[in-house]
Amino acid sequence: MIFQGAMNALNPLHRVGNQIHEVIKIHEPHVSEEEGWERVLDVLSRVGIDPSRAKDYPHQLSGGMQQRALIALSLVNNPDIIMADEPVTALDVIVQSQVLKEMKSLQGQLGLSLIMITHDLSVIAEICDSLAVMYAGQIVEYGKLRNLFKEPRHPYTEALLNSFPSITGVKKELMEIPGAPPDLLNPPTGCRFHPRCMKVMDICLSEDPKIVSTNDKGYVACHLY
Ligand code: SF4
Repeated sequence: MIFQGAMNALNPLHRVGNQIHEVIKIHEPHVSEEEGWERVLDVLSRVGIDPSRAKDYPHQLSGGMQQRALIALSLVNNPDIIMADEPVTALDVIVQSQVLKEMKSLQGQLGLSLIMITHDLSVIAEICDSLAVMYAGQIVEYGKLRNLFKEPRHPYTEALLNSFPSITGVKKELMEIPGAPPDLLNPPTGCRFHPRCMKVMDICLSEDPKIVSTNDKGYVACHLY
């Protein structure tokens, strides 16, 4: 797991190398001190941090390096799957792009599955193959990234994409999604998106749409399909 906000996820009182080494000690107690430290230094250099920085405390690293240290922490026990929760939100766009490239390349080298949890569509566009769009705690659309970006079917996915400016495409007025996200303790009846949906129909107010397969285009939960 790669947690959000590296500054809060790393312990400020312990050296970065020790924090990574601790993960090996806890999960693989049979690994010797020497082999453990070799792995720590190796994983730091894999994520682009000079191994000599293992002695640094988190505050001595830049934001980008802290995020890389968290990635190292998640890699050190050779996982098959990494779940990253808003892994680059706290970084500026240039460092974001470097860290995302690093993650993509590590994913290829190590044969990992990477699950990104983010609200940032540009991050998704850069790194993901498939995309699941969630609204009010439910998956409302799922499919290949290219299909979803080119031809969104759920009105929420469509509105999200239309509220995001395109750098290269035609300049057009950005769309807003009216209203506010619902109270999840007391969600709307029927389709949870209905109070904000431009295409709402009578059935949407009372019946929760089931997610259905739409052939090669993926899955969608909407009474329009
Ligand atoms: S089910 Fe109805 S309210 Fe929900 S997204 Fe589809 S059209 Fe809109």
